Amino acid sequence: MNKAVLHDHLDGGLRSSTARELAKDINYSPLIDVENPSEFFDRSKCESLEEYLEAFTHTIALMQSYEHLERISFEAAEDMHNEGITLYESRYAPFFSVNQTLSPVSVLNAINSGFKQAESMYGIQCGLILCGMRHDLVNVKLVQELAIDNKDKIIGFDIAGPELNFRPNLFSDIFKKIVDAGINITIHAGEGDNVESIQEALDNGAQRIGHGVRIIEDIDVENNKLGKTANYILDNEIPLEVCITSNIHTNMYDSPQNHPINKLVELGFQVSLNTDNRLMSNTSINNELNVAKVAGVQNPESLLVKSAGYSFLS
Ligand SMILES: [Zn+2]
Repeated sequence: MNKAVLHDHLDGGLRSSTARELAKDINYSPLIDVENPSEFFDRSKCESLEEYLEAFTHTIALMQSYEHLERISFEAAEDMHNEGITLYESRYAPFFSVNQTLSPVSVLNAINSGFKQAESMYGIQCGLILCGMRHDLVNVKLVQELAIDNKDKIIGFDIAGPELNFRPNLFSDIFKKIVDAGINITIHAGEGDNVESIQEALDNGAQRIGHGVRIIEDIDVENNKLGKTANYILDNEIPLEVCITSNIHTNMYDSPQNHPINKLVELGFQVSLNTDNRLMSNTSINNELNVAKVAGVQNPESLLVKSAGYSFLS
């Protein structure tokens, strides 16, 4: 029986012990003398999105060589395997790692090499989704070109970064090219922005929605009456890549009990359970299973199993 994780950021999931080792390796001063690296990265109690995002500057600084990328990818897949996952979809904005010695294609090769090692050791299947950074149109365009030129090295395309003010329709031409190339699309929507952003994601070819939890705002919960976008998602079985802990840490909901996951499951939506950023949110698959229980989901394991059916790997 396969179990899948569909939404996990490569630069948000380093092992804290590895982060420190790699920092020593390249003499990266902000981390070398840190006593407790997991505390250093933990943003579960942060006040602002800026504070949350600051942690990524440090992980990305450690992802600037082929060897580091390869090791980080291998370990991410190994950690997923150790939590019972058999299909692992990882995502990354590749140009974060491009520098004078590392080309965009070598970034993809390094990540896939790490995944391959884990696949042959553990039998886990891994795939990479490329993220364009939506506040930077040039970046999204470059990632689109890289994706199309390297279709065989990836499993999908996404846009990440600040959702508010950067809705999917800004990138319609780009998404059209991705669709025409036959590449899978998932889009971060309905996290930092509302239902209209989810609708635009659908309009631009998204087969799944990253987060998507604000679809609850298109539902009259008292009377179980669905709006147009919610109806479409339900009828067409569009999977939502739900990340409960991440949503709490970015202050969307104050507790698992107030998170809409259980309501969405009860209404029959295709809900998957994901980690988003394991390092910054100090979470894991097992933790998300527990948090989902607290949120009222009866059998959270079944969400991982159902997710296998939504995976771009299958
Ligand atoms: Zn995400």
